[in-house]
Amino acid sequence: MIRTQSEKLYSQALEHIVGGVNSPSRSFKAVGGGAPVFMKRAQGAHFWDVDDNKYIDYLAAYGPIITGHAHPHVTEAIVRAAQNGTLYGTPTELEVVFARMLKDAVPSMDKVRFVNSGTEAVMTTIRVARAYTKRHKIIKFAGCYHGHSDLVLVAAGSGPSTLGIPDSAGIPPSIAQEVITVPFNDLDALREALERWGDDIAAVMVEPIVGNFGMVMPHVGYLEGLCRLARDNGSLVIYDEVISAFRFHYGTTQTYAAAFSDFAAIEPDLTALGKIIGGGLPIGAYGGKKHVMEQVAPLGPAYQAGTMAGNPASISAGIACLEVLGHPGVYDAMEALAARLAGGIAESARRHDVPLTVNRIGGAFSTHFCAGSVTNYEEAQASDGEQFARFFRAMLERGVCLAPSKYEAWFLTTAHTDADIDYTLEAADQAFASMRG
Ligand code: PMP
Repeated sequence: MIRTQSEKLYSQALEHIVGGVNSPSRSFKAVGGGAPVFMKRAQGAHFWDVDDNKYIDYLAAYGPIITGHAHPHVTEAIVRAAQNGTLYGTPTELEVVFARMLKDAVPSMDKVRFVNSGTEAVMTTIRVARAYTKRHKIIKFAGCYHGHSDLVLVAAGSGPSTLGIPDSAGIPPSIAQEVITVPFNDLDALREALERWGDDIAAVMVEPIVGNFGMVMPHVGYLEGLCRLARDNGSLVIYDEVISAFRFHYGTTQTYAAAFSDFAAIEPDLTALGKIIGGGLPIGAYGGKKHVMEQVAPLGPAYQAGTMAGNPASISAGIACLEVLGHPGVYDAMEALAARLAGGIAESARRHDVPLTVNRIGGAFSTHFCAGSVTNYEEAQASDGEQFARFFRAMLERGVCLAPSKYEAWFLTTAHTDADIDYTLEAADQAFASMRG
């Protein structure tokens, strides 16, 4: 595939934008370097780059684009919002409508607040938990990514890990010492941490279904145990559902139990949302129990504000996106495509003697180049990054766009079709064949 225009733009970008990219996860550093592909148009499940090459998109912009690119219902909502003025600095009816929609889908959220990114949402849940408990430390899980605020950049999963900087520079030791990191899916490790630092722990923060070291499901009973241990210790439970909310079904992990009988989870005190709920525009939201949320200004002493928060464009896109997702059968269709694709890829890897572990949850899955299971960060780290890079390049050459990191997931959208899956399976088979040689 010829990509001279991407290469040209990348060299210009390097002159003006630090590292040439506006988010490090877009860099090709972990997959052999060179110019990332500059896209110029996206429609449905497809991308066109600046050299007019066409790709099937499984990146879905790292999760948000669940209805495919430029979905007519979402686009119409954004255009309507733009025509009415994009930012007022006053409350609007749209915010009330959307808050009610989110509350209906996430029963533990008595009260909601809109912000502009997942990072902001998570950062604020921590502040609120600290204000409520009057404690300072949090426990997080190795490899879970919670945005780029100071406290959660310790052992921080996909983006930083891909570039070999799990613990960011620029974070003072006085802040880093306020976060305790334990392995995911290991209740004993959590129990030990709580025994040691219990009186200081404001919150236990978790991606209840992990999306940042591949897709990793909690073991049966794990979330119940986590919630029980945290509560017994007087700590709050924060679910970071920036990836998982509305990804696998209409709702969050706490309502997953109702949809899938072998899975039980307890309600968190606070939930952080982002990505999908913005329908492709910038958004974040956090919410939780009334008595906890009443810590937030103007009701309480924990301050959080935002010039852009709740802007009519993002809220309109979010409402339209959830309306599409609310149609019957939408998630079943994505899951059916993902099951065929993930199953076919696993089968193809086996045929070509390439060790591969595929973790699929609904319409999303991850591909780790290793033989054993992947249930925590350590196992994900041990997977073969060079094999992944070869696979990534071989797929890109065949017009299949994945995230340039062994830790990121493949996301299906409502726009993918059986023809896309057939094409991708053929490409994967050729990619595995090329990797053997
Ligand atoms: N939490 C999780 C679980 C995420 O995956 C991400 C982004 N990948 C964030 C928080 C941060 O969201 P944002 O990039 O919108 O700030």
